[in-house]
Amino acid sequence: MALVKSPCYSIPKPHFQKPNSSTTNSSPRIHFITSSSSSPFTEKHSTDRYKRENWIYKNQLEPSCCAPFPPDSSSLRDYDIALQLPQLKKMLQVLREKRESKGFDERGEGKFGSVYLVGTGPGDPELLTLKAMRVIRSADLLLYDRLVSNEVLDLVGQNARLLYVGKTAGYHSRTQEEIHELLLSFAEVGATVVRLKGGDPLVFGRGGEEMDFLQKQGIQVKVIPGITAASGIGAELGIPLTHRGVANSVRFLTGHSRKGGTDPLFVAENAADPDSTLVVYMGLSTLPSLVLKLMHHGLPHDTPAAAVERGTTPQQRIVYAEIKDLADSIATAQLISPTLIIIGKVVALSPLWPYSSKVASTLVETR
Ligand code: SAH
Repeated sequence: MALVKSPCYSIPKPHFQKPNSSTTNSSPRIHFITSSSSSPFTEKHSTDRYKRENWIYKNQLEPSCCAPFPPDSSSLRDYDIALQLPQLKKMLQVLREKRESKGFDERGEGKFGSVYLVGTGPGDPELLTLKAMRVIRSADLLLYDRLVSNEVLDLVGQNARLLYVGKTAGYHSRTQEEIHELLLSFAEVGATVVRLKGGDPLVFGRGGEEMDFLQKQGIQVKVIPGITAASGIGAELGIPLTHRGVANSVRFLTGHSRKGGTDPLFVAENAADPDSTLVVYMGLSTLPSLVLKLMHHGLPHDTPAAAVERGTTPQQRIVYAEIKDLADSIATAQLISPTLIIIGKVVALSPLWPYSSKVASTLVETR
């Protein structure tokens, strides 16, 4: 059965769409906003998250060495690596002494610990691989960032040390160099260090840079792949990223420019291919510019698209629209990061695709 009728992409009415009662049938937009506002992802003010870094509180290694951080929540919010450095240094010292007492040289062959770059998938903990689970449970120290969901961190053993190294806008950002140094220092004293990364570590995750740095220092790095957001969210929405006769390729594009700015999308000419699926990571701020360029270079204005915030988590929100309406629909729904954008005819294959000529866009909750 042909599910897509070109050029209007009409498909059977969706089963899951939940219209907001406050909008009328004549409204061009139907919104259904999820009631839960809590993020499954790391937030800078998450006291719970910081409490999971229990080694700060318990001082398990050497009770006399370091004064514990005050446990009141207001000061916990200001923790960053700089504040944790004294603790980290003490921890390193203890590990180093333990190691020396076992007779290892400073940099003896094969005596280093291992660093694992572990992909945690897009949020749903059931999308972790068995290998990732095993390594997470065996880690001495885990470094994680904003895209690693709380549910995934709940799987970490109680004795593991957790360290947040995320970059949050307006917050102290950890430079990549600091993260490299931490990974290196702990690996050098024989610890098993796990760097958790949302999705797949090698898809827009800067995993390649961390690997390169550590390998140059003689540290063995093992990568454990994760389900990238495109795959996890494609599956969640029932969108086959490639589909015979509809899309013969898929392109993962970053909407983010290395040097910042709003117009990094010099690739738009090549990306405006109606027979290909375009998946845009980190694309919220540059989307208006991208869409104009794609249409300018020939992508039909009615090409189906979906924007998915916090995909595969209970807080998932989806906006469906034709690309000409996509930027406005995302703005109206106030989608925030992390949001993934999928553009292409395959989007209309989703059983959730609600498009009809009367509805310009739809926001649905599906989990
Ligand atoms: N390594 C990750 C991508 C990191 S780049 C991966 O393979 O998925 C960060 C971007 O990924 C976000 O800005 C967003 O565009 C996308 N992303 C990751 N997880 C997501 C999720 N659960 N929901 C929506 N977008 C997500």
